Amino acid sequence: MSLLDDLRDKLAGLSADALLVTGPANVRYLSGFTSPEDAVVLITPEAASLVTDGRYTAQAGEESRLEVVIASSWEERVPEMASGHRLAVEGEYLSLQRYRRLSERLGSEPLATEAFLAPFRLIKTAQEIADLREAARITDLAFERVVPMIEPGVREIEVALELERHMRLAGSNGAGFHIIVASGTRSAMPHGVASTKTIEAGDLVTLDFGAVYNGYHADMTRAVAVGPIAPELRRLFDAVLEAQQAALDAVAPGRSGSDLDAVARDLLAGHDLAEAFSHSLGHGTGLEIHEGPRLSHRSDDVLAPGMIVTVEPGVYLPGFGGVRVEDLALVTESGREVLSRSPKAFRQV
Ligand code: ZN
Ligand code: ZN
Repeated sequence: MSLLDDLRDKLAGLSADALLVTGPANVRYLSGFTSPEDAVVLITPEAASLVTDGRYTAQAGEESRLEVVIASSWEERVPEMASGHRLAVEGEYLSLQRYRRLSERLGSEPLATEAFLAPFRLIKTAQEIADLREAARITDLAFERVVPMIEPGVREIEVALELERHMRLAGSNGAGFHIIVASGTRSAMPHGVASTKTIEAGDLVTLDFGAVYNGYHADMTRAVAVGPIAPELRRLFDAVLEAQQAALDAVAPGRSGSDLDAVARDLLAGHDLAEAFSHSLGHGTGLEIHEGPRLSHRSDDVLAPGMIVTVEPGVYLPGFGGVRVEDLALVTESGREVLSRSPKAFRQV
């Protein structure tokens, strides 16, 4: 059965027979169109179409795996195309305003679904895995190029720009997400986007970034010590690395997200750092930087071959500092293949 058949089956289970896809990553997933913010996909029993406007006639023709419909406004065209069908929409990707306008034009309220496509995107195809592998390779390459410039006197933002420059030159479609370069006490911020702060001797610098290849996102975090660091910082680093390696080693088909999260959390608790591990263990990546499966204490997602996950425990002591280590891994039949190849042992520059 093809993906489209599976989607139609799932729709039938909801008593609908047409689906309007408006989430950009989902539009791209179904069609291959690389400007999905300006397009929607409509699936009916008879057809599956990419609906976009005249600016994209050539691009959509080249890229789309689906039939292309050019319309000045999809909001006007889709109700015509869906007429006579029971339409479902993606509740999390359609604004209330658009929902109301669609309802008026259709003469009935579409069925609002939630995370309709997410389960289908969990298991990556061979092509998606190849793209993620390449994104991870570019990420590793940029890191190796940038480590030599990390020294006292350099600003975080300069490191971030160099990472982005190397990733783009190597084929990345942009930086993927805001690059985190967090040094000194800023490393206590799990999401410390690179600032104008100057890196100083004694800082432990957290770098969290990832290349995007063919739309697929890598994600990696490394920490680099600038000269000798405080013993307590080194203790945090060793504890996080131990927890990260243990959780990464445990990644295998059949393991649940909560189960893996507990592997890292229990180890950190043994170092009296349970409280300092203030986020979940990891997440899937793909066309979006954060997608399923979730590795967290609340997650009942179960790993299966073909899933891609990050494993990224971290500890953060506000006012003092923090550290995180993150790898990207592919779940295989027998365990995992780690796609991030950058060395992660303690590194002092
Ligand atoms: Zn990350
Ligand atoms: Zn991540």
